[in-house]
Amino acid sequence: MTEAQQQVVAACHRLAAEGLLIGTAGNVSVRAGDRVAVTATGAVLGGLTEEQVVEVDLAGRQVGGTLVPTSEVHLHLSIYEKYDVAAVVHTHAPVSTAASISVSSIPVIHYQQLLLGGEVRVAPYATFGTPRLAERVVAALEDRAAALMANHGAVAIGPTLDKAVENALLLEWLCGVYRDATLMGKPATLTRQQQEDVIAAAIARNYGTVQGTEAE
Ligand SMILES: [Zn+2]
Repeated sequence: MTEAQQQVVAACHRLAAEGLLIGTAGNVSVRAGDRVAVTATGAVLGGLTEEQVVEVDLAGRQVGGTLVPTSEVHLHLSIYEKYDVAAVVHTHAPVSTAASISVSSIPVIHYQQLLLGGEVRVAPYATFGTPRLAERVVAALEDRAAALMANHGAVAIGPTLDKAVENALLLEWLCGVYRDATLMGKPATLTRQQQEDVIAAAIARNYGTVQGTEAE
């Protein structure tokens, strides 16, 4: 088994333990060169085994494993085609999915959100597994590390699979905070100046990797 397959298994187990992957819903991939290790369709992700991680090339031709790749493989490949990232996490995480149904975006309400690139967009709805959905999600990810998919779920990307997992967890936290803030009143948003000050402070302190200042 390859290191990529082991990474996908570990990521799925962690995301399931955190409640972001439920049953067979969601899919995860990591790219190494021109090969993409991706979860097989129908696999229960919390109990994923290495045999349930298949490999495809960037054109979608299967090059490893015998099971059928996830129905969202086109989404993963479209993201790798457009952006210089090494991992994609797609979930039906409960709070992110609820947000995808009820909001048109998550405005910038907390400085940690800048790690995702700023306001979180919601890609317009399209049928699962279709090129149209992939196209819309790719557009929503422009200069972002995560996006919501209307009436469907969430997607997070990263330069490593660990980072993509962190971004998926951060998005789920953010959606929960936004929900609670909305219940308590009218959420205040950070101004552009406040956002710029956060980025300047983060660079000065070398705090994490601030997205939105570089293409990702
Ligand atoms: Zn889905």
